[in-house]
Amino acid sequence: MSVKITLDGKEISAREGDNIIDTAANNGVYIPSLCYVKGKPCLGTCRTCSVKVNGKVMAACTIPVSEGMEIDVNGTEITDMRKALVELLFVEGNHNCPSCEKSGRCELQATGYEVDMMVSRFPYRFPVRTVDHASKTVWLERDRCIFCQRCVEFVRDKETGQKIFSIKGRGTESRIEIDAALADKMPAEQVREASDLCPVGCIVDKTQGFDAPIGKRKFEIKTIRERVLEGSTDEG
Ligand code: SF4
Ligand code: SF4
Repeated sequence: MSVKITLDGKEISAREGDNIIDTAANNGVYIPSLCYVKGKPCLGTCRTCSVKVNGKVMAACTIPVSEGMEIDVNGTEITDMRKALVELLFVEGNHNCPSCEKSGRCELQATGYEVDMMVSRFPYRFPVRTVDHASKTVWLERDRCIFCQRCVEFVRDKETGQKIFSIKGRGTESRIEIDAALADKMPAEQVREASDLCPVGCIVDKTQGFDAPIGKRKFEIKTIRERVLEGSTDEG
């Protein structure tokens, strides 16, 4: 069923039940997000897609549109709030883009450009996070994890459906873990999918790296904004 909503002051028709991110993209309005993957269940973990809905701040991926809804995506206050959320993600981990395998293909880096981030307003935490290289297939570069939970929910053992990744600990002690035995059973294409699904360079496929030269990487060819607006669902 079609409903009428107001998006950044403009009245539009939308399909009832579609979430705000997809509805906005269908109408040419980009909303950043780092945990949501179009076509997959919403996770609502990163809050980077925060918008104002009838004056209240909400995560756009979690809210289906309904009749009469008023959505503010590009107002000054909410735009700065999203920028602050992206800045927080950078300071909570350790990100050294020039040496990162995901540079140019990284959704966090690409989103940083979209929100006009130059430097974080928050102090860097420089957490100590150890790399996990126990698996034969995956190099887990924990410094870069943003705890989006994509891997936790969407990467499963093909035979048993068991989770291969999990998040252990709480708050600043949180860390991403990998079940090395299950990870070693992943076929090569599943390893690549997991690596591509990770929005940052945390899940690194041990068999491949730096395949595309600078200038030929995904977001150097087409920005993340352009990809979202054209409805692209590919990762990596
Ligand atoms: S994961 Fe992304 S933001 Fe972090 S160092 Fe790599 S390219 Fe930079
Ligand atoms: S490893 Fe990647 S996909 Fe998994 S929680 Fe961390 S950032 Fe998200």
